Amino acid sequence: MGVDVLIFGGGVAGLWVLDELHRAGMSVLLAESRALGAGQTIASQGIIHGGIKYTLAGLLSESARSIREMPGIWRECLRGAGGAGGAGGPDLSNVRVLSEVCHLWRTDSLSSRAGLAGAAGGLRSEVTRLAAADRPPPLVQCPGDVFAVREQVLDVASLLSELSRPHESHLVKVEEPGVDFAVQRPGEVNCVRLAHPAGGSPLELKPCVIVLTAGAGNAELRRRVGLSPQAMQRRPLHQVLVRGRLPLLFGHCVDGAKTRATITSAVDAAGRTVWNVGGQIAEDGVNMDPPALVAHARRELASVLPGVTLAEAEWTTVRVDRAEQATPAGLRPAGPHAKREGNVITAWPTKLALAPQLARMARELLAGAPRRPPAPLDPARPPIAPDWPRPRVAAPPWEEPRDWSA
Ligand SMILES: Cc1cc2nc3c(=O)[nH]c(=O)nc-3n(C[C@H](O)[C@H](O)[C@H](O)COP(=O)(O)OP(=O)(O)OC[C@H]3O[C@@H](n4cnc5c(N)ncnc54)[C@H](O)[C@@H]3O)c2cc1C
Repeated sequence: MGVDVLIFGGGVAGLWVLDELHRAGMSVLLAESRALGAGQTIASQGIIHGGIKYTLAGLLSESARSIREMPGIWRECLRGAGGAGGAGGPDLSNVRVLSEVCHLWRTDSLSSRAGLAGAAGGLRSEVTRLAAADRPPPLVQCPGDVFAVREQVLDVASLLSELSRPHESHLVKVEEPGVDFAVQRPGEVNCVRLAHPAGGSPLELKPCVIVLTAGAGNAELRRRVGLSPQAMQRRPLHQVLVRGRLPLLFGHCVDGAKTRATITSAVDAAGRTVWNVGGQIAEDGVNMDPPALVAHARRELASVLPGVTLAEAEWTTVRVDRAEQATPAGLRPAGPHAKREGNVITAWPTKLALAPQLARMARELLAGAPRRPPAPLDPARPPIAPDWPRPRVAAPPWEEPRDWSA
């Protein structure tokens, strides 16, 4: 079976890399063991960060530098102009943009005042101080200024679906125990055998390069190809979901150099608004059980959103680990990571917003790779493995069965 590149993992990273390599003329197959984006992408808040979170100390940090070009690249792709223009990117014109801006506000604490001033000062542009009449309803009673930052918020399920749709014939569903690697030496894979999940004929592949974009699954995949699983770190989060008749809200409440709460909104299948609450609340929640975290989140939201009543809302929590390149102190890496060892590339984007940069890095790592001459780009290309089941897009955490409390 002739594929140049075999990708493991179909979250935002794997799907963007698939698109990038396909457009570069390579024959690429992506293997997914659960559902597309199951893990971090579907649980994420979908904010296309431009660096605001990383300028809260008033400095342009390395993280802010690495991410500040991203909103422009995404906007081109969301306009459908990514593939045609110089930026090069998928056509995301059918992705649902939930909000064109994120709001930024503060509480009345001293550190909160300083944090907001630092954030506004550290940003280069695209921040507007809102007049009182233009504030979104949940922020009407907030003390101090409210800013609108030009950071879009995406419906990540529609992002996964639009990224995968043009490549459906090049996606396969695999069972984790049904994948066998023939490893010549650490990081040198000769052959990969994929068992058919429904008992059909297996696939025997001899890709020139294997790309691991399996998020938290990368550690085990690395071990199986003879590479150290220690290259990965996990940073846990414990998000809070609140649903009911709530106003839509997208943004960050700033306190010192931290985002005390980051809130994004979705509408669930029953028509209820769901708030996905992260930021410091989700970091604090890591060592709390769900009832303790819900009690903490109730107090925090009452404090960061004065005047908003959540008396009739329902609450639940979701644990999800961020999976990234290991750093010496276990801190957030400054940018995306893609490294080639033998014929294996391991990649973590660190942020959803950084997927375009990660895909470019992966393509550059393939530039010198021995491979067949590129196949011509053909949208009607024949499917690889026509009789294989294709992975579906993961369901958002609020559509999964879970216990909600009043
Ligand atoms: C709660 C939360 C909120 C976030 N909010 C934001 C945000 O607002 N903005 C932002 O920019 N970033 C955000 N992030 C970070 C962002 O979500 C991640 O950086 C990004 O989604 C990682 O994508 P990924 O494709 O590497 O991993 P994942 O999305 O985890 O995808 C990995 C895929 O690999 C598959 N897989 C696993 N093991 C195997 C295997 N053995 N074989 C085949 N497939 C396998 C999984 O099923 C999954 O589909 C957030 C993260 C979290 C946890």
